[in-house]
Amino acid sequence: MHPVRELARLLLPVACPCGELDVRWCAGCAAHLAGSPDRAERGAPRLDRLDRVPPVPVWALTPYTGPVRDVVVHWKDRGRVDIDRLLGPAMRRAAARIGPVLVPALGDAPVAVVPVPSTGAARRARGREPVTVLARAVTQGLHDAGIRARLVPALARRGTGRDQVGLGARARGRNLSGAVRMTRRGSRALGQRSVCILVDDVLTTGATLAAVERALEEAGHDVVGATVLAATPPPAHETEDRTAPAAGSRQETEQNLKV
Ligand SMILES: [Zn+2]
Repeated sequence: MHPVRELARLLLPVACPCGELDVRWCAGCAAHLAGSPDRAERGAPRLDRLDRVPPVPVWALTPYTGPVRDVVVHWKDRGRVDIDRLLGPAMRRAAARIGPVLVPALGDAPVAVVPVPSTGAARRARGREPVTVLARAVTQGLHDAGIRARLVPALARRGTGRDQVGLGARARGRNLSGAVRMTRRGSRALGQRSVCILVDDVLTTGATLAAVERALEEAGHDVVGATVLAATPPPAHETEDRTAPAAGSRQETEQNLKV
C-alpha cells in the first residue's frame, strides 16, 4: 500500500458499513441503491385501511436486506453522516423517476414533501433527523421531474411514543396510535389543504406511515404517496396477492385501530 494511504488509514480509518476497507461505501453497496424504486405497500400490513380506500402507494428504492441494513444502521445510529452523500443522491434519482407517475394525482397542485418524524429520544441520541436528508433529496428529485415541490417538516411525535424496538406489529400500532401531531409551524406551512408525499427511511409494518397519513388527513390534507429508502420484504408466505385479505386479518386490523 502507498505509504501516504497507509498513514491516512491509521489516522482516519474508513470503511464501508459492509466491512470493505478504505472506501466510505463500496461499489457493491452503492449498486443496491442504483436501481429503480418499486412499489412496496403490499408488504406492509398496517397500511391496510378500514374505509375500502386502497393503501397509500409506497415506493421503496431497495429491499431492507443484507448490506443495505448495515448502511442504514451506520448512517442513522453510528454517526456516519458522510453517508448522506450516498443516500441523498440515490433518493433524488428515485424521486425523479416517481415524479411522472404522480403527475396524474397531483394535477397542477404544488406538493408538500413531509418527512416522517423521529421520536424525541431518537432525535436527541442522533443529534439530528436523518430522514430530513432523504426528504430534501426527494424534493429536489421531484423538481427534477418538473413538479413544484417543497419540503415541509410538518409533524412531530408526541411524547408518549415508546421506542419501537422490541415491540411486535400489534404493539407498535398501539404505541403509535395518536403519537403523531402537526406542529404549529407545520400547520401554517401546509395551509388549508395541501397535497402531501411522505418520506421515511425504512418501511416495516407501515404503522408509522399510517399514523402520519391519518394525522395529515384529519387536518384536511391529501396524502398521494410515500417514498422510502428501503422496505422490509414480506415473509415468503405473504408474497402472494394480498389485495383481498381474509376476514380474520381485516377484523384484527380493526381491533388494533380501536386502541
Ligand atoms: Zn459495502
